[in-house]
Amino acid sequence: MRAIITGITGQDGAYLAKFLLTKGYEVIGVTRGYDNNYWKLRYLNIFNSMTIEQCDLMDFACIVNLIKKYNPNEIYNLSAQSSVALSFEQPIGTIQYNLGAVLNMLEAIRMVNPEIKFYQASSGEMYGKVERLPIKENTAFNPISPYAISKVAAHMTVNSYRNSYGILGCCGILFNHESFLRSEGFFMKKIIGEAVLIKKGKRDKLTVGNIDIKRDFGFAPQYVEAMYLMMQNKKLDDYIVCSGKSYSLRSVIAYVFDKLGIDENRIVIDKQLYRPAEITDIYGDNSKVKDELGWEYDMNFYDVLDIIIDEELNFGRDNK
Ligand code: NDP
Repeated sequence: MRAIITGITGQDGAYLAKFLLTKGYEVIGVTRGYDNNYWKLRYLNIFNSMTIEQCDLMDFACIVNLIKKYNPNEIYNLSAQSSVALSFEQPIGTIQYNLGAVLNMLEAIRMVNPEIKFYQASSGEMYGKVERLPIKENTAFNPISPYAISKVAAHMTVNSYRNSYGILGCCGILFNHESFLRSEGFFMKKIIGEAVLIKKGKRDKLTVGNIDIKRDFGFAPQYVEAMYLMMQNKKLDDYIVCSGKSYSLRSVIAYVFDKLGIDENRIVIDKQLYRPAEITDIYGDNSKVKDELGWEYDMNFYDVLDIIIDEELNFGRDNK
């Protein structure tokens, strides 16, 4: 089996590549290649076990050539401008890239080889403000950020290509999933990274925005397994992948600070960091992916935090 993974330098790209390599796949990882930052692949010790290709997914010809060169069985599209916060500052770029790249890839598959399976990284953010929790696959989308809008558009495009052209596409609707490999700038990485610096006496305060919102958090290495399971399904479909439980950001910080022995008076709330629009609480129902695909997940998020804190203490930015 041969798979192309876009967004290979991201958290999920690295974990998915590792997982597919253990399954005996040949993996081609795609990056836009502006800074060649492969530390996550090196951290997982897989950098030399795969091929890296540079390709701008907004360039249709580049994708066509890539697909012709490798003729993969599966393409996993994990590449995206993936920050909700940044999408409020760069709405046009976010929507153009997150939709345009998907459209290019689907059209290239349709043209070159419609037998290639396609996975799209959709997001729980697509549901936005909902009236009833937990969120299920049939809950209506109500996106409130440019990021979420771009993901809904890409999601609906995959559905349209599946229904209209018979393209073998599926979407994993993943809720927040974290690890030591989470990209810089995301909440969990910031909290734990900076708490460790405070613990080591190298930082004084932790400045955060609205920490009274709640999110459904899980562990990234296990979430990528659901991506693989979806692609092995006889009839490709869309699935929510989540833990089923939400945690407030305040409780996460309290846990991290307590574990590291840091006083909570080090937390500074900065209203300038509040987002223009925000979902207060969100959690999903993972019974479809568990029942139909046999995905297994029963981790408590505080156990996930323990794992990330340990890795951050031993291998974090301070030790690189
Ligand atoms: P990351 O942000 O860690 O990685 C995404 C990769 O996309 C980057 O490494 C980058 O690789 C590439 N990229 C392409 N265009 C841009 C851009 N304009 N700005 C920034 N990066 C860009 O994401 P994750 O691995 O965490 O997530 C994988 C996918 O899953 C994404 O599509 C994300 O939206 C989605 N998702 C993630 C969730 C999570 O909790 N992590 C939850 C739900 C969905 P390069 O520079 O090498 O091209």
